[in-house]
Amino acid sequence: RSPRGNWHARPRIGIMGGTFDPIHNGHLVAASEVSWVYDLDEVIFVPTGRPVFKLDKHVTNAEDRYLMTVIATASNPKFTVSRVDIDRPGVTYTIDTLRDLRALYPQAELFFITGADAVAEIMQWKDVDKMFEIAHFVAVTRPGYSSSVTLPAGSVDMLEIPALAISSTDVRERATHDEPVWYLVPDGVVQYIGKHGLYHGRD
Ligand code: ATP
Ligand code: MG
Repeated sequence: RSPRGNWHARPRIGIMGGTFDPIHNGHLVAASEVSWVYDLDEVIFVPTGRPVFKLDKHVTNAEDRYLMTVIATASNPKFTVSRVDIDRPGVTYTIDTLRDLRALYPQAELFFITGADAVAEIMQWKDVDKMFEIAHFVAVTRPGYSSSVTLPAGSVDMLEIPALAISSTDVRERATHDEPVWYLVPDGVVQYIGKHGLYHGRD
């Protein structure tokens, strides 16, 4: 039986990919909402290795991003974190993430979660049609982004979620300037950023 008491033949697993530099409450609400609406058994957060669309940008080292993701998700019994992307050498492509998780969970029904900004670029992702074969795609609303892009019929579900105008970019800029990030990210992540001086002296 699933969390909502329905019977599903296969385990239902969400996949929340992201750079998580750092993870923030927008990511957590997105995962929680999709988990509820789609009656998921688990949501696996997958911090990227080298994100392909951020190759020209400075990205915090993978272990710090991984640990912040673990800290942020630890209290939710349905949330877990996977190292598949950070342990795979080279640039991260979502098709590889999906293939790795499919191999780990051959029986599961997979739901890949993205925000409205990411879904607008999805048709440019490597092997997009193979991605659609491995997982359902759920695009959640995100303040400031409208997903007006045309996608193949039935390939991506759209889900309206509570609007949190939070981005990792804004959190990093705040941390750089010693401005508060409380309540934008979980308390443990605020403390991790402070303890390790992440984002300090960036500009
Ligand atoms: P950055 O500003 O560094 O790009 P970000 O806030 O966009 O960071 P990512 O790690 O790039 O975070 O995003 C991971 C996934 O979470 C993407 O699919 C993105 O669309 C989604 N997402 C991020 N923030 C939100 C939010 N506030 N509401 C809904 N979805 C979000
Ligand atoms: Mg982003």
